[in-house]
Amino acid sequence: MELMTASPANQQALDAFRRLLGPKGYSDDADDLSPWLTDWRGRYTGRAAAMLSPNSTQQVSALVKIAAAHKIALVPQGGNSGMVAGATPDESGKAVLLSMRRMNRIIGVDQGECTVRCEAGVILHNLHELAAQHRLRFPLTLGGKGSATIGGLISTNAGGTQVLRHGTMRALVNGIEAVLPDGSIYDGLSPLKKDNRGYDLKHLMIGAEGTLGIVTAANLQLVPGLIDRCVIWAGVNSPQEAYRLLLFMQAGLRGRLEGFEILPNRALHAVLRHIDGTRSPLTSSHPWHILMEIVQDDPATLSPQTIAEDYMAQALEQGLITDAVCSASESQAEAFWKIRDSIARRNAPKVRLCNMISACLLPIWPASSLMKVRR
Ligand SMILES: Cc1cc2nc3c(=O)[nH]c(=O)nc-3n(C[C@H](O)[C@H](O)[C@H](O)COP(=O)(O)OP(=O)(O)OC[C@H]3O[C@@H](n4cnc5c(N)ncnc54)[C@H](O)[C@@H]3O)c2cc1C
Repeated sequence: MELMTASPANQQALDAFRRLLGPKGYSDDADDLSPWLTDWRGRYTGRAAAMLSPNSTQQVSALVKIAAAHKIALVPQGGNSGMVAGATPDESGKAVLLSMRRMNRIIGVDQGECTVRCEAGVILHNLHELAAQHRLRFPLTLGGKGSATIGGLISTNAGGTQVLRHGTMRALVNGIEAVLPDGSIYDGLSPLKKDNRGYDLKHLMIGAEGTLGIVTAANLQLVPGLIDRCVIWAGVNSPQEAYRLLLFMQAGLRGRLEGFEILPNRALHAVLRHIDGTRSPLTSSHPWHILMEIVQDDPATLSPQTIAEDYMAQALEQGLITDAVCSASESQAEAFWKIRDSIARRNAPKVRLCNMISACLLPIWPASSLMKVRR
């Protein structure tokens, strides 16, 4: 990794950043920066003059003012788990990385309102854990949950695998705090539900990939915790068949169907070939595969396993699927999702938390222990 020699003007800015942030918040050491200059999939590597790691909104505001005064490009970065290299600096070496990872405090959970306030650098997996301690759930989840941060998820308007029921990040963000390009702080953390005044800055910032400012904190919606879930892996002949299956499932299940994903056979085979410990949920071969998740968050309702088996039997009878298997345990459910999450494999050299978490949940199940539904 090569660091750029700073011009005198840039050097002034770098000195100002260093004074503002101190040794914990400023680094121009090649070894510190190196892991963060390559994107998740290992396809692009950039260069940067330094990496800034503020630990408060005030510090973000002050450093943005310095960057604006010296016309220095800032590249905000959360977990660097995005798939499109949006958090990778260009090759000029003039930009400065702005890591939000030190701003990782959860400010508080409001159980009455079912909301949580947290800083932008909170890792999604940690938010899940915290919500679970309150018997609540932050319903957005995705394969990169061990690395992706709330600020990154907001800035990419991430969808995740439960989008069918809960929507993208946009639907789950009640309010945000952000530092705007002139360094001023936009405080929209206390959301006013009946707010119909003109443009909504919050919605402009969601999905803006850091182009309109730096997200520093958010107020997020939580939902009741899950009692149980069942994940189904089904084989279908075509995307058209998959669509008919989706309509069939949605018609009867509405909110209980949280996830519905279609995978081509070649994606399954690529995962089986390259990811250790994975195995095909079905022994039969199919051109397309469907991954579905049925959940239970109300104790008065039928168990997701009962529903899954009933629906799969009907789907087989109606010719909507050719084969299916329902998870019989949480580890099997995770193993099914693991296949889907491994499709976009990470190539960068650094080992990340999400990979380690997933590795612990790799499928170790005898095929006979799965609940099977076959024609
Ligand atoms: C295994 C895996 C599975 C995935 N599955 C899905 C999926 O199912 N659905 C889906 O939608 N996405 C999926 N993703 C992508 C996911 O949306 C992103 O990884 C995540 O949103 C990025 O979060 P991050 O903190 O790593 O952001 P980074 O990758 O660091 O940054 C992403 C973008 O946001 C900007 N940014 C980061 N933080 C801030 C901030 N605080 N303020 C302003 N701008 C900021 C960056 O400059 C960059 O443009 C997956 C990723 C992985 C690795």
